[in-house]
Amino acid sequence: MDSKAGYVVYLDMDSFFASCEQLRHPELIGKPFAVVTDSLDKFRGVVQTASYSARKFGIHSGMPTMKALQLYPNLHCIKEDYDYYEKISNEVMEIIKSYGFKMEAVSVDEAAIDTTELNESQVLEVAKGIKTKISNELKLKCTIGIAKGKTFAKMACDSAKPNGFLFIKDYETIEFIKYKKVSDIPGVGAKTEGKLAGLNIHYIGDIQNSNVQVLVGLLGEYGSELYKLSKGIDEEKIVSDYTALSISREKNLYEDTNDIPTIMAQLKELSEDAANAVRSTQKLYKSITVKVRYYDFTTKIKTKTLSYYSDSSDVLYSEASELIKPLIKDNILVRRVGVKVSSLTDSAHQHKLF
Ligand SMILES: [Mg+2]
Repeated sequence: MDSKAGYVVYLDMDSFFASCEQLRHPELIGKPFAVVTDSLDKFRGVVQTASYSARKFGIHSGMPTMKALQLYPNLHCIKEDYDYYEKISNEVMEIIKSYGFKMEAVSVDEAAIDTTELNESQVLEVAKGIKTKISNELKLKCTIGIAKGKTFAKMACDSAKPNGFLFIKDYETIEFIKYKKVSDIPGVGAKTEGKLAGLNIHYIGDIQNSNVQVLVGLLGEYGSELYKLSKGIDEEKIVSDYTALSISREKNLYEDTNDIPTIMAQLKELSEDAANAVRSTQKLYKSITVKVRYYDFTTKIKTKTLSYYSDSSDVLYSEASELIKPLIKDNILVRRVGVKVSSLTDSAHQHKLF
């Protein structure tokens, strides 16, 4: 195969958590509402997903719930129910898998599908079929971007939201990305954006016209990756994770407690169990989630994605214990603790660092 990737179909569910809530609460359709973090302290809650009607008031994910309520005081806030969204996510992924292509569940509501072996009209047919099937069977809307390579397909998808469909043909790639901001490239954060701005590089077109050595001087190896991308070469691989989207272990504590050593001991045991399962299926994980259920059955989760893949129980336990610390409070007892690893990949396809 040449250095260019084949066509990738990138699918992103529209306002996923909010759409899931609309499925079981149809009265919410067309109303401004937000799914917010399951915070015991409403002053600290954060909007996870805003319905499209709520977005018209400037409400968006990541915004403190209090701020959202200032923008629209009648905003209906629903506590997130991650287990429910994950169940629907699995149904979405099953539909995609049923087409039989190599597929990566990039997140709970995003997937990249490798359609390298198909020609343009076949890709179009498959992508439309998936969109229609999700709409018919699950009553959910998604946006699909198609391009040569995972990065460009995601960018096509991002620019077609919501309920959109955008096919960037190979010869259109350079033109398509030219006027995109550097921050539109998945993975380019504020830091990289700031560094590039220092060189007066704001658009991908600016990268196209810059010098690769200068970029490498500024950003290291990543500079050369960005340069290649700007020239239409997208080497981001699809990491197939057919068998399992996640591996998790959870368990009630012997009795409700907020004693940190007791909770940590349980977490350590669960981390070892989960990491063993990862190794026995020849997988590596990249994302770690901890879950705490309190005595009153409210639940909190915290997630972190590592910059590398691992199968280590030590890494898992040390990261999970950092994640769980802020969830253990003086004034509330913990009933149940869980740990989950996701963004799994086959160990044979990755060099692990730890
Ligand atoms: Mg989405």
